[in-house]
Amino acid sequence: TKRLLTVDGLTVSFHTREGQNQAVRNVSFHIDAGETLGIVGESGSGKSVTAKAVMGLVSAPGEMLSGEIIFDGDRVLEFSEKKWRTVRGNRMAMVFQDPMTALNPVKKIGFQMAEVIRRHRGLGKEAAFREAVELLRKVGIPEPERRLNQYPHELSGGMRQRVMIAMALSCSPELLIADEPTTALDVTIQAQILDLIKELKEQSDTAVALITHDLGVVAQVCTRVIVMYGGMVMEEGTVDDIFYRTGHPYTQGLLRSLPGQGGAGRQRLVPIEGTPPDLIHPPSGCPFQERCPHAMAKCSELPPRYVLGQGHSSLCWLLDEHRTLAQALGEGGP
Ligand code: SF4
Ligand code: MG
Repeated sequence: TKRLLTVDGLTVSFHTREGQNQAVRNVSFHIDAGETLGIVGESGSGKSVTAKAVMGLVSAPGEMLSGEIIFDGDRVLEFSEKKWRTVRGNRMAMVFQDPMTALNPVKKIGFQMAEVIRRHRGLGKEAAFREAVELLRKVGIPEPERRLNQYPHELSGGMRQRVMIAMALSCSPELLIADEPTTALDVTIQAQILDLIKELKEQSDTAVALITHDLGVVAQVCTRVIVMYGGMVMEEGTVDDIFYRTGHPYTQGLLRSLPGQGGAGRQRLVPIEGTPPDLIHPPSGCPFQERCPHAMAKCSELPPRYVLGQGHSSLCWLLDEHRTLAQALGEGGP
């Protein structure tokens, strides 16, 4: 498999009146061609900022302070605006939580889709409209010809999200970043959108970075996961590592707050108490220490990243000498 994206030591901060908000700190991960990576964490954990950095969309008051982003062998930081125009929306595309912010409310769906298709594929007007109909059909929108003549507000939230996915896919991107694509939708529609993403994955070689606060969503679609907290990667692993060989108390907390998952329905739903750290004055040491039920004195120092297995690692002192959190806590291995 081809290494499509490498993010190495990414650090992004935002200037605020109170000081520097250290939104993303030393984040590293990779995405291979065709795979689906889940980027999981609560709001404010740095997921969206990480995605924006990958897309070259961090701008003032945000600033990328250090790190390297390599897309298909090229250093993204060296891309000119001209180069970005051939990459963004073309080789990398993004779908957002609220499609209304990405769609123009006063232009018909067909016009907006055709515009994108023409810009990236150089098709004529009629061919672009025909392609738009095909794409809407592909993402499961009934009566696509009629939809092209409608304005965004005439479509349901789920329909709009399908339109956004269709537009993102119109250029067969190598990387699709979906930032909370189902969060604003009700549960039934959420499931349909996830099914759609799964189906599209089976039909194309597009790699997907799926950003979500919901590990349940990840379990349905992803192969690998990074779990972020306080701007840092707490745990990285396969979906099975994360669910069955959990290596971090924060991941465990996310699992326990999932209905019918993690504890295989045995445990009660337990929300993680407390609030995320203030990233203007981040705690030295482990970012999770104020909410962690296992915090100890040495957690005031930043733990090293412990390797628990191939591609599985955790940033937690408890993993010193252990391969899973369950072992560290004396709850027995898997
Ligand atoms: Fe909890 Fe300490 Fe591990 Fe952080 S390093 S997750 S505070 S046990
Ligand atoms: Mg976000």
